[in-house]
Amino acid sequence: MVGISGVGKTTLLETVVRSLRASGKQVAVVSFGTMMLEEARRQGISDRDALRSLPTEEQVRLQTNAAESIAASDDDVVIVDTHAFVNTKFGYYPGLPERVLRIINPTSYISVSANPEEIYRRRMNDTTRNRDRITVAGIKQELGMQAAMVSACSVISGSPVKLVVNRDGRVDEAANDVIRAAGLNGA
Ligand code: AMP
Ligand code: MG
Repeated sequence: MVGISGVGKTTLLETVVRSLRASGKQVAVVSFGTMMLEEARRQGISDRDALRSLPTEEQVRLQTNAAESIAASDDDVVIVDTHAFVNTKFGYYPGLPERVLRIINPTSYISVSANPEEIYRRRMNDTTRNRDRITVAGIKQELGMQAAMVSACSVISGSPVKLVVNRDGRVDEAANDVIRAAGLNGA
């Protein structure tokens, strides 16, 4: 599952997990950023928002390590909370380059988006994160980049993409879309 910051991916995933548990189903959720941070901590990096400022080759190394850990999971269903791209000072870097896709081999992609003005408000209200400078025009550009990156992933791995819109106050609807897209609504 990919989504730029402020689309409400974390809240959406919490809702998905709660809803599945209520019907007796289990799903594992892993945060790609947290996996990268676990490895980065050994080098004294403790802020997840510092990862995207590392030299590209270091991000590649952390990213590949995280992908290998995820691929080693023995859970039946794993949802990976990640990004289609990372906004680095060198440009947009793919969150799921071909090298990573070959390691984790996703069965489907869920691309989460939201209204740009809603994303703007959510980012402005989030004081827990060290966000980049925020404009609505920049958010629109990021949503376009997300769509481009996800379509490339889909072609490389031959897996479908489900577009999910997380509207303010309607996270339950978005969660149901995710559950259906992941094929978890059946018996
Ligand atoms: P998050 O908490 O999901 O915003 O992730 C924190 C940070 O982890 C991001 O800002 C990126 O620097 C890094 N990250 C997450 N997913 C990926 C990925 N697939 N490839 C490279 N970096 C990633
Ligand atoms: Mg998040």
